[in-house]
Amino acid sequence: MIKIENLSKTFNISRKNRVEVLRNINLEIQKGEFVAVVGASGSGKSTLMHILGCLDSPTKGKVYIDGQDVSRFSDSKISKFRSQKVGFIFQSFYLQPFLTLIDNVAVAGFLAGKSRKESRDRASSVLDSLGLSDRKNYKVKELSGGQIQRAAIARALMNDPDIILADEPIGNLDSENSQKVVNIFRQICSELGKTIVVVTHDMDVAKSADRIISIKDGVIYG
Ligand code: ADP
Ligand code: MG
Repeated sequence: MIKIENLSKTFNISRKNRVEVLRNINLEIQKGEFVAVVGASGSGKSTLMHILGCLDSPTKGKVYIDGQDVSRFSDSKISKFRSQKVGFIFQSFYLQPFLTLIDNVAVAGFLAGKSRKESRDRASSVLDSLGLSDRKNYKVKELSGGQIQRAAIARALMNDPDIILADEPIGNLDSENSQKVVNIFRQICSELGKTIVVVTHDMDVAKSADRIISIKDGVIYG
């Protein structure tokens, strides 16, 4: 489902100052796999996730998603591809506190070109499947941390993507709620056949994955 070949990513901070965050990485992730990514803060985990989600491009190397070389896509093709193929659970894409839960989830549908009705219907059924039926019309600021986390998963599932990318989704959830989120991830992989890549600091979460990948000094292990 995802294949990375000889990928490097360097940020040019100034003309003289460059950071090489990822160095010559090779990685293959199968369809339906649940992969955890671990590594110290600043090790390049988010950079890797942005590249996997086609939000950023590599400095060198190739990224194939579903057999397609995404580095060759135009910007408009990339954004369409991304909205159909990838669901994100990233802190920078968090929910709007003053909108209702259903509207927050439905937004992902409008952005992908679905009608308002179609988006709301789909949002409603995804929220049902995640046990949030009775919270649809609550504002996000009225929900608990665990419910917000499930809402973020609902939004990522909105357009039925093949790949779900979650960057530290557990955050500061207690162990009961983080276990619930992990169970949902497992279920999404086994029942819906989705591929999930999760960045986490939580070793219990990492151990629940099919495979753990660690990043250190720009290199991947595992
Ligand atoms: P992690 O998610 O593992 O904490 P990141 O991928 O966010 O790490 O960052 C890895 C390194 O790349 C850090 O040193 C960070 O400062 C640097 N970095 C990330 N994004 C940028 C950027 N847009 N410009 C310059 N440096 C960046
Ligand atoms: Mg990060």
